[in-house]
Amino acid sequence: MAYDIRTINTVRDRYPEGGRPEVWKDTSQKDWDSWIWQQQKRIKNMEQLEKVIHVTDDERSAFQNSHEMFNMGITPYYAALMDKDDPNCPIRLQSVPKGGELVIAPEDMEDPLAEERDMPVPGITHRYPDRVLFYTTHNCAMYCRHCTRKRKVADPDSAASTNQLEESLAYIERTKSIRDVIISGGDPLSNSDDRLEYILSRLRAMNHIEVFRLGSRNLVTLPQRITDDFVKMVKKYQPVYIHTHFNHPKECTREAFDACARLADVGCPINNQMVLLKGVNDDAKIVKELNHKLLMMRVRPYYIFQCDMSQGISHFRTPVEKGIEIIEKLRGWTSGMAVPHFVIDAPGGGGKIPLIPNYVIRRDGKKWLLRNYKGGQYVYNEP
Ligand SMILES: *Cc1c(COP(=O)(O)O)cnc(C)c1O
Ligand code: SF4
Repeated sequence: MAYDIRTINTVRDRYPEGGRPEVWKDTSQKDWDSWIWQQQKRIKNMEQLEKVIHVTDDERSAFQNSHEMFNMGITPYYAALMDKDDPNCPIRLQSVPKGGELVIAPEDMEDPLAEERDMPVPGITHRYPDRVLFYTTHNCAMYCRHCTRKRKVADPDSAASTNQLEESLAYIERTKSIRDVIISGGDPLSNSDDRLEYILSRLRAMNHIEVFRLGSRNLVTLPQRITDDFVKMVKKYQPVYIHTHFNHPKECTREAFDACARLADVGCPINNQMVLLKGVNDDAKIVKELNHKLLMMRVRPYYIFQCDMSQGISHFRTPVEKGIEIIEKLRGWTSGMAVPHFVIDAPGGGGKIPLIPNYVIRRDGKKWLLRNYKGGQYVYNEP
């Protein structure tokens, strides 16, 4: 029988009786499938969390002490993927606070990517010649414990007000060198369809704008958000690229598969930006399995990010060699389509810098001595 991702690793397989944890047993399927319900029922306190998993002492005290800095917010859908008993479950590590968050390591920085410095107007980071990051909301469906923008995400003061939105759009309109707009946040899919349509239609009306990307983790944490109405709206403004953030094969559920299919069916190319996280995916086998599943979901692995220098995420950081090693174990050994770029977003605002295994052994003038993925040596003579 063909390997069908729809039949594997779903919420229903994990909780065969009733399809979900006990606490939501009586929830109607209609509610469960509704993104509004999922959003409203997000897990925000220990009492709710304890109904889904066996919380450890470390998680409990981390929750109490991290509350001020970065809220907890987990959709029931994502919570249903957690292992009740294993505190090292990759889903749990990404969503439930841990003691490590409270540690500010000496190398941590407040705004490591200098996103504030490169802001010509509030709400736009313009660093590269032809493309900008455009912040449209501070909200996310779920608060990822490894978030780079912890400072801003979930902070109501950093919300993109209507004024700010208009100023950002005006900047994009008058800056003719921009051809690619990355609509970001928080998570832009936290905006209503109407507000998103307003943004997309304004951008599409600008002649110099060729493509936009929606950078959203909703495919992973709230796939119910990708409704028929939403994709119908997006279809009017093609080409629209979706940049998402799957970190572990456990996240490749039937629900996520369906959400990706709806977007791909209206012509959206989908790219994945994984973050390398200690204990979650710092293992070539896991990354390979993730990337294979993503390809079946019509999602192309695009970047692997080295965990950056933001405060309170040092417990997630891996040595830089780990990322290079993962690429080495993918390149040649599996489809080139399953091999993303490993990058460090340089502290201080230097932008993304790719790191690749070294395949050049030596160069003598026009003679290049190269090695292939298996270590075999080959000479290429330049004409
Ligand atoms: C990541 C990023 C982009 C997009 O980079 P690509 O390599 O084109 O995906 C653009 N602007 C900023 C500030 C970024 O951080
Ligand atoms: S979805 Fe992205 S911006 Fe939002 S909390 Fe997660 S990593 Fe941060």
